[in-house]
Amino acid sequence: MTLISELTILQPADKEEVDLPRTSADEPAIGKKRLYIESYGCQMNFADSEIVASVMRNAGFATTSSAEDADLIFLNTCAIRDNAEQKVRNRLKHLTGLKRQKPELLVGMLGCMAERLKTKLLEEEKVVDLVAGPDAYRDIPKLVEEAESGQKAVNVFLSREETYADIAPIRLNSNGVTAFVSIMRGCDNMCSFCVVPFTRGRERSRDPHSIVRECQDLLDQGYREVTLLGQNVDSYKWAESSSLPDGEGTGVGSTAPVTFANLLELVALIHPDLRVRFSTSHPKDITDDVLHIMARYDNICNYIHLPAQSGNSRVLKLMNRTYDRPWYEQKIHSIRRILGEDCGISTDMISGFCTETEEEHQDSLSLMDFVQYDYAYMFAYSERPGTLAAKKYADDIPEDVKKRRLNEIIAKQLAHSAARNQRHIGQVQRVLIEGPSKRSDAELCGRNDQNKMVVFPRGDWQKGQYVNVLVTECTSATLRGEVV
Ligand code: SAM
Ligand code: SF4
Repeated sequence: MTLISELTILQPADKEEVDLPRTSADEPAIGKKRLYIESYGCQMNFADSEIVASVMRNAGFATTSSAEDADLIFLNTCAIRDNAEQKVRNRLKHLTGLKRQKPELLVGMLGCMAERLKTKLLEEEKVVDLVAGPDAYRDIPKLVEEAESGQKAVNVFLSREETYADIAPIRLNSNGVTAFVSIMRGCDNMCSFCVVPFTRGRERSRDPHSIVRECQDLLDQGYREVTLLGQNVDSYKWAESSSLPDGEGTGVGSTAPVTFANLLELVALIHPDLRVRFSTSHPKDITDDVLHIMARYDNICNYIHLPAQSGNSRVLKLMNRTYDRPWYEQKIHSIRRILGEDCGISTDMISGFCTETEEEHQDSLSLMDFVQYDYAYMFAYSERPGTLAAKKYADDIPEDVKKRRLNEIIAKQLAHSAARNQRHIGQVQRVLIEGPSKRSDAELCGRNDQNKMVVFPRGDWQKGQYVNVLVTECTSATLRGEVV
């Protein structure tokens, strides 16, 4: 085994850029109108754009990767922080120029920002022709027709039932190996800082049959990894009205509701070569049942995204997260007890929430020391109109203080990521190949169980294959090694 002292720690250069929008890819378009979709924000939005592409294909549109070539442009937007909305507003300025050159071009706003601002968007942004919220995507062809006839079109109705269960998503810009599968929509949690319950409506779970069918179809098409998506996957619940085939110990086939642990098992049972990931777990709802199912199946990845948001119990209470620090620490103990030290754990952290003191900020840092997260998404608090926090608490931490605290959180995380990645040095990791590495065609990359990107020389390997890689180097973002 290689000694750690002999190994290089590379510089953190190829940290993934999670903030970049995703764009649609080119489909054959003979006789069809062209649709360009740009998706911002979370994985859920990327998955939603694939549903929109499917709806639009049936309405005679083919996707394109070029905004300049499109007859119709959709921005699938995010409203989670003010800067997410500003990014979209800037993009609209560019599209205004494009529309001047091509007056018949239609521009539609979809997603959370569309839902939050509703008709106000049409008043404020003249370039926008149609607005559709996250539950109105079936209605988009009709809205496009209205817009084509010169009227502005809006549907921001939020549903209690819509899960788009019967719509087969069209994979956009896919690597052909990994795919997102929505298992639920909306959120009932009302964290005080968060706009999601207002933009995505009430929580509802999708029929497990349709989820398993979609995952099976993906496997049949050559995909080898699915990520099950929901704002709080642990509150997934499907109550059967009709009877289902017996699913040996999975809960399906009985009258008991299908829980997330049951669903995870159903998907894991599809095929041992189909890897299963999921996001997001909620500390208040994650159960030992889920952890035991993860331990039982090798193809369920050993990685949990368990956002803490803060390490201080008073702040967590103000955030309405409904757990406190000891509860969160207990959950970490359970993960370590059932899944071991190597299970990857990541978090979301917010700096400078209303009234957060320096000591309370230190508690966030000390929680990070306690958990030793593999990865974190870190944000400065951004007040969102209409949320409980905006109504009840003053956004009283100055921006420079929020930023300084955020930088401290980021610095700590970089150190922890590097240390956690170093643990893998000298280990052999099972990697699912996703394609060429970003830097060079002579290298391939893929993720290990813990969701870490692993880069290695190409050899004769192909994407979609599993390989065992001996890890020899790491940065805080990437592992490097050789196939053994
Ligand atoms: N449902 C997930 C959960 O509860 O962990 C998270 C969903 S949210 C789209 C992603 C992350 O954005 C949150 O975990 C939180 O850290 C961050 N976030 C949400 N609202 C925010 C705000 N107003 N300011 C800063 N960050 C925010
Ligand atoms: Fe927002 Fe909280 Fe729901 Fe996550 S659980 S989407 S942070 S309200």
